[in-house]
Amino acid sequence: MLRPKEVCQILELVRAYSVPIRDDRISELITWYVEALQNAIDIIWDNIEWKYSFPELVRRGGKLTTVIGLKVRIPIIPKDRAFKKRLREELMKDNPYAAHWVDAVIRTAYSIIESWRKKYLRGRARKVKPRIRRRFARCKTTLMKIDYEAKTIRITLKQGEYLYVSWRSTWFEHRVRGWTVGEVIIFDDRIVIPFKSSEEIYVRRVIGWDSNEPSLDGYEPSIGFIHVDLKPLQSIKIVYERKKAIAQSRGKRELYEKYVRRERNREKDFINKLSAGLRLLFPNTVHVFEDLDKEDMVSRKRVERKRRKRNARTPWKRIHRRVSEVALTAYVDPSNTSRECPRCGYVVETQEGQIFKCPRCGLKMNRHKAASINIRRRYLEEKRRRKRRARMRGFPHSNEPEVSMMVELWVGVTPSGRSPVIWIPMKRDPEGDEAREEGLAKTKPNETRTPHYRIELDRKL
Ligand SMILES: [Zn+2]
Repeated sequence: MLRPKEVCQILELVRAYSVPIRDDRISELITWYVEALQNAIDIIWDNIEWKYSFPELVRRGGKLTTVIGLKVRIPIIPKDRAFKKRLREELMKDNPYAAHWVDAVIRTAYSIIESWRKKYLRGRARKVKPRIRRRFARCKTTLMKIDYEAKTIRITLKQGEYLYVSWRSTWFEHRVRGWTVGEVIIFDDRIVIPFKSSEEIYVRRVIGWDSNEPSLDGYEPSIGFIHVDLKPLQSIKIVYERKKAIAQSRGKRELYEKYVRRERNREKDFINKLSAGLRLLFPNTVHVFEDLDKEDMVSRKRVERKRRKRNARTPWKRIHRRVSEVALTAYVDPSNTSRECPRCGYVVETQEGQIFKCPRCGLKMNRHKAASINIRRRYLEEKRRRKRRARMRGFPHSNEPEVSMMVELWVGVTPSGRSPVIWIPMKRDPEGDEAREEGLAKTKPNETRTPHYRIELDRKL
């Protein structure tokens, strides 16, 4: 059986808070910044070289496979010193601010172009130059002087001209005590300050999470199966799809945009609470997810339709990103996670329906549960491999699922008046199909299996 070895890992924590501010100089700065940023993007864009890339044959597991199936044009972003120097000179021509502001603009322009490039190569963005639509200015640490005693940030605008922001006596002051300040983002009415800290976590548990459209399905031997309901997230989407459609059909643009913002806020709120809940319920844990980017890139055509659909409707990237901000996370290769038998390792050709059936060893179980076991195991195996231990051939697959599937932990995010959302964790019998099919009598939830887990919950809720 694979068990995580207790090791200390460092979790970098980032929390961003905003401080309201009113200052005419800010609007002027942002106006200049946004123009300069678009200018920088235009210049970089005009100097992109488009190169052809041809299909490449790669040997993978004894088979030859094509990495890129078609002739594609790859954008090469200019990064040489001469180009950067010219870019900087061009932007300096019309710069009333400190020279470091130009560097801040250049860096932001590159990061915008880079993220467009990544999306473009994945087929997620068209060949269209990025346009800056929001008013903001991203600062650089070289423009900031932080006084941790006074809890004040001094931002240089021009030589001898400063902007002061303080986080003293804010509601979040105590939350960021001892944390360091990162690069601030300036908006017309507020300044967003990211605070950073690192936390030592002694890893005692590894949970494998299968990402499905209406749920996150997890597995950890000391807990059993975990089912996180994501339906509220879907209903937010459905409700606002309808509202937006109505607003659009009536040509009410402002209303439409209001719904877009509301939807985004509600989704964000849900994801924040979900992540906080995972952190609270499962301390000392590494959360393992499938690397869904890889899924898009490697096996676009081979990925089953249903699996692709889950990416489109549920904001997995945002969920993964947020969870990784508050807890330890890891990602594994998603291929075959739902087609591999968690008991004997046999890979079935096609996997349809909710029940995974292994023709070799006869295991039958819910496919999401099977996938969560596989995801967890894949992470632990990779970790061992990385430690350059002799690779174990025919690694014994876990034979725990039959035992631990007698009970399942159900958790969810539920609105509860004004108070922060409360999680309702409860152990449930699984829906029964596996139990029946396996010929197992339904068993009472075995409380003794997870004693310390229960206590933690009582203490925290
Ligand atoms: Zn099997």
